Amino acid sequence: MKFISTRGKDFAQCSANAIAKGLASDGGLFVPEKFPKISSAELNDMLNMEYFERACCVLHKYLEEYDYEQLLSACKSAYSKFEECDPAPVVRTDDNTFIMELFHGPTLAFKDVALTLLPYLMRKGCDISGIKEDILILAATSGDTGKAALEGFKNADGIKVMVFYPSDGVSDMQKMQMCTQDGNNVNVVAVKGNFDDCQTAVKTIFSDVKFNAQLKEKGVVLSSANSMNFGRLAPQIAYYFSAYCDLVNSDEIKMGEKINFVVPTGNFGNILAGYYAKNMGLPINKLVCASNDNNVLTEFFASGTYDANREFFKTVSPSMDIIISSNLERLIFELSGRDASVTEKRMLELKKFGKYSITDEEVKMLSKDFYADYADEDECLQTIGEYFDENGYVLDTHTAVALKVKNSYQEIFGDKTATVVLSTASPYKFAHDVLTAIDGNAPEDAFKCANKINEITAAPIPEQIIELKNKKIRFNNVIDKNKTADSVLEFINK
Ligand SMILES: *Cc1c(COP(=O)(O)O)cnc(C)c1O
Repeated sequence: MKFISTRGKDFAQCSANAIAKGLASDGGLFVPEKFPKISSAELNDMLNMEYFERACCVLHKYLEEYDYEQLLSACKSAYSKFEECDPAPVVRTDDNTFIMELFHGPTLAFKDVALTLLPYLMRKGCDISGIKEDILILAATSGDTGKAALEGFKNADGIKVMVFYPSDGVSDMQKMQMCTQDGNNVNVVAVKGNFDDCQTAVKTIFSDVKFNAQLKEKGVVLSSANSMNFGRLAPQIAYYFSAYCDLVNSDEIKMGEKINFVVPTGNFGNILAGYYAKNMGLPINKLVCASNDNNVLTEFFASGTYDANREFFKTVSPSMDIIISSNLERLIFELSGRDASVTEKRMLELKKFGKYSITDEEVKMLSKDFYADYADEDECLQTIGEYFDENGYVLDTHTAVALKVKNSYQEIFGDKTATVVLSTASPYKFAHDVLTAIDGNAPEDAFKCANKINEITAAPIPEQIIELKNKKIRFNNVIDKNKTADSVLEFINK
């Protein structure tokens, strides 16, 4: 399947090529030429499959150039790294809430679902598209992508990984996870700034023609592990299908009945995957976009104006502390009737003026598929405390934002549709704030917080957290945001 750029001036011959390249050279994002469909017969077949088989079934609709059997075995091996080989179990946590727990992988966040598979997709993608150079993966991270990418790609042949995170913008556990990373091909750098600064720096490096030529002379080409890469997005589409199948199998819904998903959102990658699932034919009613105090998306869905000229808030859900949601570009592209010039114009306005608007008609169209709202800091922490008291279930700070927004959505609209909340991280990654929410206060030390959460709630501490305590810090470099390109060269030349 051919992939086109949202800005119309680049394309990729096939999915393999789109994944290997990561970003389009015109600054846009690769999107499939059209949405492949999953028929109701295929959805029925999926009911009896294990997760990795469901995933392969969905993925191969886009990744036609990948051999089916090979892709299947890559999915099997990637998802064997999750508890019980299931990256997306759905649990009922109260009378009208289902939670899809996406955090049972190697790094305890939903990013693992894609990043355990991406190394295969990328290596194969290079083979298929004849790329002979070494690949350098650059990732900007709000905390979870970085660790998941490092873990997914560590010691991979012919691939190096470099991660940029905001120096004061991640939790203690997230920071320790990244800075203790093992592997002979990895590098981790803190940037003085926020996530948007990191993401902008990486995007700038990608579109710097001279810099890329310089790398190529050294036998290196860049690729991306952020959700701007279609290879990150595609595996995320699969769990929407899987959750649906699970609800049918447990008689919670009838086949064909529509359901809602509520997604704690930052860069708009996760929820966009749900929109792709809907476009492929999955019966979805509403996709609910939940934000924290950085509620630029809430405002956008309500008013049609995306305005990034606003104060940046550091919150207890740092993985959602984002003001420029990159993947929204893919939605804008669809909304405009796949008009690349309109999309490009809006994205250039965003770059130049920090804002753009869509038409009233487009706002109306959006409201058919989406609803957006946000939860502030107090509401988030209060939700964690109350939910544990009432239901004995421990939410992480990101999932709590989504749960709060789900409750207000259901109250406002009286919508009785079965609703699945995507849980994106283990509460132990955000131990300090989760403990504060449950117990009123918390010690400084993140491991002490973890032990205390375990004492109070009996939720088991993941092995990955326990091991972290004894790992050595390997990376402690902090740089100015205008030094990112230099640090890339330094890493390459090492
Ligand atoms: C990345 C992340 C998000 C936001 O997901 P997007 O795809 O960027 O919208 C939410 N919660 C957690 C825990 C994350 O790591």
